[in-house]
Amino acid sequence: MEVLFMGTGASTGVPMIGCDCSVCQSSDPKNERTRSSIMVRVDGKNILVDTSPDLRIQSLKNHIKRIDAVIFTHPHADHILGIDELRTFNFWQKEEIPVFADPETLGTVMKMFPYAFSEENRGGLTRPRLAPREIVGAMKINEIQVTPFPVKHGPVYNHALRLDDLVYLTDCNEVSDEGMEVMKGVDTLIIGAVLYEPHASHFGIWQALDLIERVQPRQAFLTHLSHRIDYNELTSRLPSGVQAAFDGLTVSLPRRKIPVAS
Ligand SMILES: [Zn+2]
Ligand SMILES: [Zn+2]
Ligand SMILES: [Zn+2]
Repeated sequence: MEVLFMGTGASTGVPMIGCDCSVCQSSDPKNERTRSSIMVRVDGKNILVDTSPDLRIQSLKNHIKRIDAVIFTHPHADHILGIDELRTFNFWQKEEIPVFADPETLGTVMKMFPYAFSEENRGGLTRPRLAPREIVGAMKINEIQVTPFPVKHGPVYNHALRLDDLVYLTDCNEVSDEGMEVMKGVDTLIIGAVLYEPHASHFGIWQALDLIERVQPRQAFLTHLSHRIDYNELTSRLPSGVQAAFDGLTVSLPRRKIPVAS
């Protein structure tokens, strides 16, 4: 399995419109963050987690030519507003793209973008052609074992995902005991944090590091970072095994261990 960080920024992106801070003005490309999303690749299949408003530019930069499935974590604007860009993939692939999410998220997305799910709502537009697929528990998506787990995200819930031995946990400020159970034995943990200190609906960096310490993955990456975080400064403050993610970073995971039949 390979994971490509399509975007690693908080909801405003970095630089943020109108901001003169040192991170927004930085010339270091690692301080340039589009909205958060990852591409998971297994056996030549591309599975996109969330369609950030920057999906078009992310796809061009990373030479993405195909998307086999999309999984949505929650219906916040920074995670779904790039949905219309999927129509270009429909154009090349000449088939519908399945989009997976928990029933509530899927319902909200379908209400926001009715034309993407039905010819009747098209209204003359060239539309994304998407096939809705509810996730109601652990399931396989393109040979990947996917286990969603709800996590607290301020006043709402986000669906973190275990994808084989990878956990993608952004937009969260509290994980339940059940969620901790799902993360057990994970190889790679990707965790979102917007500031160093806690935020009303996101972990702070120090809280994220505490959680990483409890989960004990082989490697961990911090993402969904705001303009308050300078890449080099953050990197210098991280323990070994934990890295600040940046747009375009690719990470490899070992193949899932297949249990030997006895
Ligand atoms: Zn977000
Ligand atoms: Zn700034
Ligand atoms: Zn969110």
